[in-house]
Amino acid sequence: MRSRLSGPFVLPARDIVRTPGEMREHRLTIPAPEKWGEGLVAVPQGKDLELDARLESVHEGILVSGTLDTEYEGECGRCLREIVAPLEVEFQELFEYPGEEAADFEVQDDHVDLETLVRDATVLALPFQPVCQPDCPGLDPNTGERLTESGSAQQAPVDPRWAALQNLTDHGSASDAARDTEES
Ligand SMILES: [Zn+2]
Repeated sequence: MRSRLSGPFVLPARDIVRTPGEMREHRLTIPAPEKWGEGLVAVPQGKDLELDARLESVHEGILVSGTLDTEYEGECGRCLREIVAPLEVEFQELFEYPGEEAADFEVQDDHVDLETLVRDATVLALPFQPVCQPDCPGLDPNTGERLTESGSAQQAPVDPRWAALQNLTDHGSASDAARDTEES
């Protein structure tokens, strides 16, 4: 027995079933129904999932493809700093018309349910070893303190502008030191 389709990830396909070549696009924003991911980082429950889905009618069923844009949160795998970063996920799957053999993804009552497809693709796209920045130096093995400049536990998301500011600061102090040397 198939359970009745329901939920925000269920999209109608009634107007394109059995008409190969027809196509419909759906753009919707759905709050994550639960936490997606079990690692150092995950998409938290309630985070907006911006879904762009294209439903194409093909001979065997409905071909669903698209992208999902969201953010993941968690800890840097090296320094344990809180990180928030954008995540773009691509997905594609053929939802087959019900036939003799059960398929993993099927058109049901002229609808397709994207939740499993999108959730699995999102979890797979999460970084296995997330870092707050590509060259994060991590923690001092002796003191356990962060080997970064400030050492303060910033809760702010990783932002390239912070890195740019950091470069400016480094440059500033370096040229100051050079000037001092020249003057003496
Ligand atoms: Zn880090």
